[in-house]
Amino acid sequence: MQGTYTSWMVCLSVAIAVVVAYTTLNLASRISSAKGRAAFAWLAGGTLSMGVGIWSVHFIAVLALKLPIELTYDLPTTIVSLGISLGTSGFALALVARSELSQARLAIGSLIMGAGISGMLYSGVSAIRISPALEYEADLVAASIVLAAITSYATLWLAVRLRRGHSWSVVLTRVLAAFVVGGAIAAVHYVGLASVAISPDARPLPGTTLENGWFAIALGLFAFGVLGVTLITIMYDAYLARHLRDSDFLRAQVHANARHAARHDVLTNLPNRLGLAEAAESAMAEATRSGRAFALMVMDVDRLKTINDSLGHEAGDELLRELSQRLRAVLRRSDTLARLAGDEFAILACDLDDAQDAERIVAKITDLLRDPFVTRKLECHASLSIGISLFPNDGASFEALLRRAEVAMRTAKEASGGSYRFYAPEMSSIADNRLVLETELRRALELEQLELHYQPKVDISTGRVRSAEALIRWRHPTRGVVPPNVFIPLAEESGLIVPLGEWVLRRACRQLRVWIDSGMRPVRVAVNLSAKQFRQAELTSVVESALSESRLEPGYLELELTESAVMHDAEQSAKTLQKLSTMGVHISIDDFGTGYSSLSYLRRFPLDKLKIDRSFIRDLMLNPDDVSIVRAIISLAHSLRLRVVAEGVETAEQLEFLKNLGCDQYQGFYYSPAVPPEEFAALIARIRSERPEYTEADMLKTQSRLSAYTPT
Ligand code: C2E
Ligand code: MG
Ligand code: MG
Repeated sequence: MQGTYTSWMVCLSVAIAVVVAYTTLNLASRISSAKGRAAFAWLAGGTLSMGVGIWSVHFIAVLALKLPIELTYDLPTTIVSLGISLGTSGFALALVARSELSQARLAIGSLIMGAGISGMLYSGVSAIRISPALEYEADLVAASIVLAAITSYATLWLAVRLRRGHSWSVVLTRVLAAFVVGGAIAAVHYVGLASVAISPDARPLPGTTLENGWFAIALGLFAFGVLGVTLITIMYDAYLARHLRDSDFLRAQVHANARHAARHDVLTNLPNRLGLAEAAESAMAEATRSGRAFALMVMDVDRLKTINDSLGHEAGDELLRELSQRLRAVLRRSDTLARLAGDEFAILACDLDDAQDAERIVAKITDLLRDPFVTRKLECHASLSIGISLFPNDGASFEALLRRAEVAMRTAKEASGGSYRFYAPEMSSIADNRLVLETELRRALELEQLELHYQPKVDISTGRVRSAEALIRWRHPTRGVVPPNVFIPLAEESGLIVPLGEWVLRRACRQLRVWIDSGMRPVRVAVNLSAKQFRQAELTSVVESALSESRLEPGYLELELTESAVMHDAEQSAKTLQKLSTMGVHISIDDFGTGYSSLSYLRRFPLDKLKIDRSFIRDLMLNPDDVSIVRAIISLAHSLRLRVVAEGVETAEQLEFLKNLGCDQYQGFYYSPAVPPEEFAALIARIRSERPEYTEADMLKTQSRLSAYTPT
């Protein structure tokens, strides 16, 4: 029996086949990128739409066959064929969802899928209830099975190849592939159907009858519906994913900008403290792994305030920018340069062997400071005080390393600007406990834990002790004796220096009164004044009250001031010094040679003595430069009618040398360190018996009021 095909139904089935193919290719991409439950949902939904789609292609193809007799179907067998279609679809989708699909798996997969499609096809055909039974043409059956396997292979291969991407070219390729694959699927069905032979006297057996045309339309609509819903879901899902990615990208960018702002300095665009902390964290991890060291260097621009004050903030900013560029240029890319505060920079130098490597970096930095900075057409030189801490020796956390580098930097700055120091534990016992120490110092003042020791100043020519410098000592209940270099700067920062200095002044005067009353030959007592104390408006009245309290002539008191203290506000200083000098108090410039060394001011101030800083005396025998400096200071002082005191004399050679240079007095361990008052009294008593007496009037002469200096 020969049949003909209803052409619109054939077209409908081919169209469904193409849409099935297109949906399948998209499903492959969707399932492979989904995870967990979503992947399972996609697989289930995809299996349903693909299975129903392929099955309806087959069923519509069967319906399209117009025969002289009306066909009846066995419903259970039809449902089995739908089941086979679903199983095959599920298998195919699960296969293409795998991240890796080897050629062997692809080949085996295609065979299974091909068998599945054929199984569905022939089980579907066998649902036709007819007598005598249908017959099959073997070679066409074979051809349909081979075609099914090839189509499966092509579908799987394309599905895997076209899994990724949303670009138009990929979409277009999918559409083209869908036509090829869809055509192939339809071909499998029509070849399969062609293999079926129906005997001319066949009669339908009882079974379900279908109104072919209407049923085909209903089935077609259903298939399109299922496939359409699947496709729309796929597209919406892809749109959501893309949109989400875009907004993720935007959010990431905003976040990155905020991150950058939080970690960078505005002026120089260098990392700030937070940025440095992060770099240090990773440097610590890296150094721990590689067993190498890294250095954290904290650098403070010396006298930036002076530049800001005199040239303006813009000039200061310009200098900082230029400086940061120069620094960046000498560092390795892996090193971090950060700006911590107004005038404070930091370098994280990684991958070092030892401290010498860090010193080499310091040398490079010193080099780059040699060229002047040009700000607002003015040339100026910058110097940096540098403090260095090393990982792992100096600390295991960024905070500890930074604190210690800062301690070292402050030590370097105090010693002299433009120098560097490596952190040493002695520095820290102080700074780590800065706050604690400050509160303790406050209490120490009340609890009388502070005491004064006295160091003799000796006339070089006569060997007589002219005066005693009062040097403060803190006898800490647990720390032992804390040296003044440690707590005086602390007291200065906190402002405690004012009451502390007043205490020293009164105590020194009282001590002198005790000595005089006990019959000790009078010496002058020298008290150190800190800069802050010197600037106090009440200073002269405090001095007056200290003197009158102990019933002392002002000539018994000498005040030691550093160059920077008197230079700070030269006008005001001149007035204060004038008042003190008029009272009869002696004035010395302490640590002379280490400060600004602007010599012109010496003439304007009513001074008595210059005390040459002990750093010059220390290397006197070794360093010809120091000899020249000391000689120059002595002759300068003498031409201004000032006396000269050498600090820190430790050896007989130094003393002999100073004597030859014409120095007037000396002070140092060679004669005596600072000693408690009783010891000092004993020392004076000993000299008295050895040396000739000198008069009180002799002692009270103020050098600054002498009309002429007569070298002895
Ligand atoms: P300074 O005023 O220059 O005091 C001299 C320092 O040199 C003292 O240290 C003294 O012990 C030390 N010295 C004396 N002879 C020698 C020597 O031959 N070789 C060496 N290497 N050093 C010697 P000290 O007592 O530790 O005082 C250090 C600084 O602390 C003082 O320097 C002074 O600036 C400050 N200071 C001490 N007492 C007071 C005070 O009562 N008030 C204020 N404002 N500052 C004080
Ligand atoms: Mg002094
Ligand atoms: Mg000194």
